[in-house]
Amino acid sequence: MDVPIFDPRGFRLTAFEADLCARAREFGARVLAPRAAQWDREASFPVANYDDMRREGWLGICIGREEGGWGADFRAYCLAAAEFGRYCGATALTWNMHVCSTLWTGLLTDDLEMDEETRATHRGRRALHYGRILGEGAVFSQPFSEGGAAAAGTVAFGTTATRDGAGFRIKGRKIFASLAGHADFYGILCTEQHDEEKLSRRDTLYLAVPKDAPGVSVEGEWDPLGMRGTVSRNLAFRDVWVPEEAMLMPPGLYFQAASRWPHMFMTLTPTYMGLAQAALDFTIRYLRGEQPGTPPVKRRMYPTKQIAVAEMRVMLEQTKALWFAAVSEAGPDPSKEAVLRALAAQHTVMENAAALAAKAVRTCGGQAMLKTLPLERIFRDSRCGSLMLPWTAELCIDRIGRDSLYEKGEAD
Ligand SMILES: Cc1cc2nc3c(=O)[nH]c(=O)nc-3n(C[C@H](O)[C@H](O)[C@H](O)COP(=O)(O)OP(=O)(O)OC[C@H]3O[C@@H](n4cnc5c(N)ncnc54)[C@H](O)[C@@H]3O)c2cc1C
Repeated sequence: MDVPIFDPRGFRLTAFEADLCARAREFGARVLAPRAAQWDREASFPVANYDDMRREGWLGICIGREEGGWGADFRAYCLAAAEFGRYCGATALTWNMHVCSTLWTGLLTDDLEMDEETRATHRGRRALHYGRILGEGAVFSQPFSEGGAAAAGTVAFGTTATRDGAGFRIKGRKIFASLAGHADFYGILCTEQHDEEKLSRRDTLYLAVPKDAPGVSVEGEWDPLGMRGTVSRNLAFRDVWVPEEAMLMPPGLYFQAASRWPHMFMTLTPTYMGLAQAALDFTIRYLRGEQPGTPPVKRRMYPTKQIAVAEMRVMLEQTKALWFAAVSEAGPDPSKEAVLRALAAQHTVMENAAALAAKAVRTCGGQAMLKTLPLERIFRDSRCGSLMLPWTAELCIDRIGRDSLYEKGEAD
């Protein structure tokens, strides 16, 4: 067994977190790692992994205990998800989309304001969704991106939902919809359209659209650089009708969540935290002559290799420390400093995962980058982290610079 990414004693994990991470690590090594090359080679969805995750209970990790799940909070989930990412980036990233549909509707909305009647209705609806996950093994995805500025959070989503009878009629298109064709429900963000009024971000709706609803189609090819097992094809919604119970959050709540619980956008980082660790794991195994699939040739005695490994470890420990601090302070209404730290952590994990993988390739050398070994996949998968909206590496830098120099309401 690999050592934990986050040593329970060193990072003072709770007993629950330590146990969850140990189980995630065991599952990753036993189930995810042996199959990871296949999904990558074929750009196919890790169906067999989801069968095992379903059987072993991982789909309900963030559903509250009183609602039948494992009750992991934000940090516990992030720590476990990093262990998944260490062994299969594509599975961890797609699992994250699914888990967010429970984390955001559960723990996160519990922290937000709504009147008692709205809360009771929401709890009733989420029980329905959770029942599908826990009882029927349903998998949810999170297609938000549309190719315009909406996924960056600056304008309203162009996919619209209009009231129609006891439900909504949806029109629009999503790009990069991970789990396309494989999720049972697409948890889309769209804008509720009121008559001819201009679309507003305040009217964002979060709806669960069944994959077989008339008018839903999966379109386009999927042959990307990395994260190939995510199968992030396009989704089209042509006059798709869903009942009111499809609401994963009450109207207006997503807008409140995005403003008051900004760490919600950090959930893409655990996968890349795991990939960063995987780059160092590989390098150490390889230089010691212990990487399965390679001859037992040792390269660890060269000072240049030792320096490279030392630099990688320093970068990894810096990344872990900042990320751990940021995921530990996630919650409602964070201070400005905490939000800046979260953005810095997001930027650091995404950029450093790619930098560590690149350094691993340079340090280990030519034979290490053959496609028969995991490093080549880690290198490509890790490159995709910085591109994830709304907190891409560029947008993090934009916001950190602006918000460090300006207080609310200030302008030049
Ligand atoms: C493997 C993979 C899986 C994905 N899975 C999902 C998924 O399941 N669901 C989902 O919703 N999306 C998903 N995405 C999409 C992802 O979150 C981004 O939406 C997508 O990568 C953006 O691509 P784009 O070319 O449209 O970027 P653009 O919007 O053209 O942006 C290009 C770059 O410009 C910068 N930029 C963008 N907007 C602004 C702005 N307003 N101001 C300043 N700079 C800006 C950003 O740094 C961005 O990286 C996935 C992407 C990948 C690579």
